[in-house]
Amino acid sequence: MGSLNNVETTNKPINPLDPEEFRKQAHLVVDFIADYYSNIEQYPVCSQVKPGFLTETMPKIAPLEPEPIETIMQDVQNHIIPGLTHWESPGFFAFFPCTASIGNFLGEMLITGFNAIPFNWFASPAATELEMVVLEWVLNLLQLPKSFWFSSDGGGVLLGSTCEALVCTLVAAREKKLSKVAAEEGVLEKMVVYCSDQTHFSLRKACGVVGISPQNVRAIVTTKSMNFELSSLALLNAIETDLRSGLIPLYVCLTVGTTQTTAVDPLGTLCEIANRFDMWVHVDAAYAGSACICPEFRHFLDGVEDATSFSFNPHKWFLTTLDCCCLWVKDRSVYTKALSSDPEYLKNKPSESKQVVDYKDWQISLTRRFKAMKLWMVLRMHGASGLREFIRKQVKMAQHFEHLLLGDKRFELVVPRNFATLCFRLLLANQSSCDGDINMLNKQLLESLNATGRVYMTHAVVEGVYVIRVSIGAVLAEDKHVSMLWDLLQEHADVLLAKYVTPQVISTLM
Ligand code: PLP
Repeated sequence: MGSLNNVETTNKPINPLDPEEFRKQAHLVVDFIADYYSNIEQYPVCSQVKPGFLTETMPKIAPLEPEPIETIMQDVQNHIIPGLTHWESPGFFAFFPCTASIGNFLGEMLITGFNAIPFNWFASPAATELEMVVLEWVLNLLQLPKSFWFSSDGGGVLLGSTCEALVCTLVAAREKKLSKVAAEEGVLEKMVVYCSDQTHFSLRKACGVVGISPQNVRAIVTTKSMNFELSSLALLNAIETDLRSGLIPLYVCLTVGTTQTTAVDPLGTLCEIANRFDMWVHVDAAYAGSACICPEFRHFLDGVEDATSFSFNPHKWFLTTLDCCCLWVKDRSVYTKALSSDPEYLKNKPSESKQVVDYKDWQISLTRRFKAMKLWMVLRMHGASGLREFIRKQVKMAQHFEHLLLGDKRFELVVPRNFATLCFRLLLANQSSCDGDINMLNKQLLESLNATGRVYMTHAVVEGVYVIRVSIGAVLAEDKHVSMLWDLLQEHADVLLAKYVTPQVISTLM
């Protein structure tokens, strides 16, 4: 018999979903978030805590008794916020943006509020059909060809990430190819995937997941002289070389807006080559896809009509938070054949009628969130015009920053700007200084800028050149934040150059 002291007792009635308690406590959290956004500039963009700051201070066991929301929120303020990198801060210029918005937040509240899990149509018909609706709305905004639409043989799905989209399309490509080639031993080991050396690393990971050996992933070298775009000739050569070795070209991943420099692969010619060899062509527009809803950027997608699948991440630059990746395929029957399952316990009449979409057959996992709700809210609350205005405002700020950089001979814009991300470096006047010195200088410059806590930028290395990346996209960023970034850059460049070169040399640069 256990002692009474060990028995967990509580006098409070337990209803974890009491509507009135929820109303009260949720208002408090909403106020907290609104205050967070009002004060966001008070916090250093990058957290300045040391490893273990939280694990060493938090209690080692979970509380036995319920705690009041006020106490918990106080801990969020005192212990969690100092350890956050503030991705929505207007000083956040790192990686690519992850843009939040009111429409998104309210959509997220509804998603969690309904807690519907639309793995098949019957599990929540509105969630499935809303997903089909918003995906067609976005297709329309992107002016993608009809072949990607549900009304023809195509269709779309909301996944969690581009990495997932790559895994799913690779599986579909693999199964399609396996159904065509002779079923001989070791055929999978012969399948080859092509990309450029600028393609996001998640393609390699996805290849590993689907059983494509790392030796069969061809990362074709790109050059600065070609703005880091994948060359059609190099792709053709690689495919022909592999064919001569008895290998099977399977899949090529093209990128519109590469992660390092936002390069755009020429879709038209590359698709034409891949199609000659009956390959699956996936277009990854994770970041830049959002911009293509503006007519002036749509040309970057020219040629997409010849691709097999296309994806982009609203959770980057489309006023939508993680996770949200739109994937469209041209042949939904090929795609779902590779990913579908039919367990007894999920059998139901609508699915058997084949008149509905069961999204479990479009992804890896069974369960899924009602993500369409937030995209629908974003599209309705901000409208196509609001989204376009947002993109254009950011691009305008990037143009302004570009103009400032080009006007100062101490800096080099390393690649031409396509969207709102710039890659630049500070130069050394001394002719004898090598790329290694300049790389070191820029590394130090970036570190000193980020250490101020006022901005956060990241870097890339292309053709051995270390570049500082500025990705303008934070929803709260205004012209004054770009000016602040420029002033800070000047100040830190002055200090660093003074260490590297003599004052006389600096004056010749000004
Ligand atoms: N593709 C590109 C071009 C990217 O820039 C990124 C991330 O920045 C990814 C893929 C990976 O996206 P996700 O995290 O959604 O898998």
